[in-house]
Amino acid sequence: MSNLLRRFFVLAAAVLLLGQAGVCSGGTATRQEIRVGVLADKGIENAEQEWAYVFDWLNRRLPELNFALVGLDHPGMRRAVREGSVHFVITNAGNYSELEHSDGVTRLVTLDSPLGISPTQAVGSAVIVRAESPLRELADLSGKHLLAASPDAFCCYQIAARELLLAGVDPDRDLGRLEFVGFPIQAIARAVKEGRADAGIVKTCLIEQMVAQGEIEPGALRVLSPRQIPGFRCQTSSRLYPDWPFAALGHTDPALAKKVAIALLEMPRTPEGSQWSTPAHYDIVDDLFRDLRIGRYATLQEETLAALLQRHRVGLGIVAILLIALVVHAVRVDYLVKRRTRELNEMHAEKERLAAAMRERQSELEHAGRMAILGGMASAIAHELKQPLAAIANYARGIERRVAAGRLEAEPLRSGCQEIERQSSRAAQTIEKIRSFARKGGGSVRAVSLAPLVREAIDLFRVGRPDAEIVWRADADSDRYRVRADAIQLQQVVLNLLQNAFEAQAGRGNPAQPIEVSLSAEALGYRVVVCDQGGGVDEAYRARLFEPFFTTKPEGLGLGLSLSKGIVESHGGSLQLRNTQTGVCASFWLPEEESA
Ligand code: ADP
Repeated sequence: MSNLLRRFFVLAAAVLLLGQAGVCSGGTATRQEIRVGVLADKGIENAEQEWAYVFDWLNRRLPELNFALVGLDHPGMRRAVREGSVHFVITNAGNYSELEHSDGVTRLVTLDSPLGISPTQAVGSAVIVRAESPLRELADLSGKHLLAASPDAFCCYQIAARELLLAGVDPDRDLGRLEFVGFPIQAIARAVKEGRADAGIVKTCLIEQMVAQGEIEPGALRVLSPRQIPGFRCQTSSRLYPDWPFAALGHTDPALAKKVAIALLEMPRTPEGSQWSTPAHYDIVDDLFRDLRIGRYATLQEETLAALLQRHRVGLGIVAILLIALVVHAVRVDYLVKRRTRELNEMHAEKERLAAAMRERQSELEHAGRMAILGGMASAIAHELKQPLAAIANYARGIERRVAAGRLEAEPLRSGCQEIERQSSRAAQTIEKIRSFARKGGGSVRAVSLAPLVREAIDLFRVGRPDAEIVWRADADSDRYRVRADAIQLQQVVLNLLQNAFEAQAGRGNPAQPIEVSLSAEALGYRVVVCDQGGGVDEAYRARLFEPFFTTKPEGLGLGLSLSKGIVESHGGSLQLRNTQTGVCASFWLPEEESA
């Protein structure tokens, strides 16, 4: 019986076990897999351990479903949510807030841990330093070496970063060094304790846990800017933020979400004392993102320029107006400069035209002056030419008579012809002198010997004024005196001075008084002096002598002295008139050729 009974129980147990196994295997085959993405900053194993209680509970509570943990890092979490490859997620408040905004993830419940005051005020950051560190406040961290887990670690960077920013220390700019060392965060506490950094960011209550577990001695580490938050048993440098939510994705079946939410709310406390509670507010996380300009506020960093422009619009407006004014001014100045340059060029061209016209007039005037000199000498010149012509005629007639009388002795005929030739060349020379002197326009400026030039002028004058007595005195070496000059113009000056001297003497009735012409060397040049005994210049009109058209003579043109002065000065020289006891000494100085 007992055997039978034992067999029956064994059989029954076997049947029961088999049946059970059949249900299990049949159930597993038909159980819908529900994938739950879990943020696994500290590695998948760690995550599986941490959340095993929850998954066990769900799988037991909802046996028709098979809840599978999918461990993800931050990028993996983003991808899984975007692709819809998970039904639910368990993540920290920061990551949740991001996903809520970007992909419509909705929290069902929030973890209620025994460390927090409430699900809404559960976690914060403790910025720790060694006990003996001189640092007291978060603001003291400027320029210091700070350790944190990673840029997207909520508890172990972002929460503290916000407090630092509000304390006036921009973690991106003001720290001496910001080093991200990853998880586990216990390593950060150890590194700070060992003096490998000035400070470190850890999750609130970590230090208390490590002390409790004997990992560090009590009082070895200190928290910067500690906050007193009633009911919170751990030290914190920051305000507190909500705990991790269990959230559904947008595509998750609402009935399933409801079932899961109820199951989670019904979950008994874990051995550590955690349970799920109604969903917390996550607005504070949004504020953090805005302050840090991360997550969905990352664009604010790009908008900074726009904000900056907006903030400084008045100043920028003034700068813009100034710039525009500057550009307008530059364009205007450019325009004015171009216009002025054009005007100056036109003025310059006009000046050139006027100068050319003036030169032309001057040349004509000088020509007129020469013609006037020759005009005054016309009868004397005619007389001068008449003499050789008469002599030529005489000799020609004599030769003709001899030929007619048959007196053809060679010698008288030859000497007659020679005389004709001599007289005709004398006439030709006179004509040539007059012709070149009367030529229109000046000759060219070149190096000339001053003495022969003056002597030639005297000769020409003698042709016109045969009754004039001219005494020529020159230094012994005067033939070496050379100047750069237009020879015709200089002769005109000498002739003018001679003419004035002659006329002054003629005016006093003694034209044949000797007129003395001298040439001498003087400092850096040579002086030609023409002295007469014509009584001198009346002091009353002395100042006007060089005015054009000033004359005291009934037949005078008044051009001689003004033209002569102009000519001499255009050669770099000077011309003066001074009274002597008996008359006037008119003189001009010219620079020697080298210094001309
Ligand atoms: P013009 O001989 O045709 O009068 P100039 O310009 O040569 O013109 O001379 C101007 C005036 O200067 C003369 O009218 C004369 O009164 C005076 N003058 C020039 N040279 C002498 C001189 N050697 N002695 C006296 N008066 C002179």
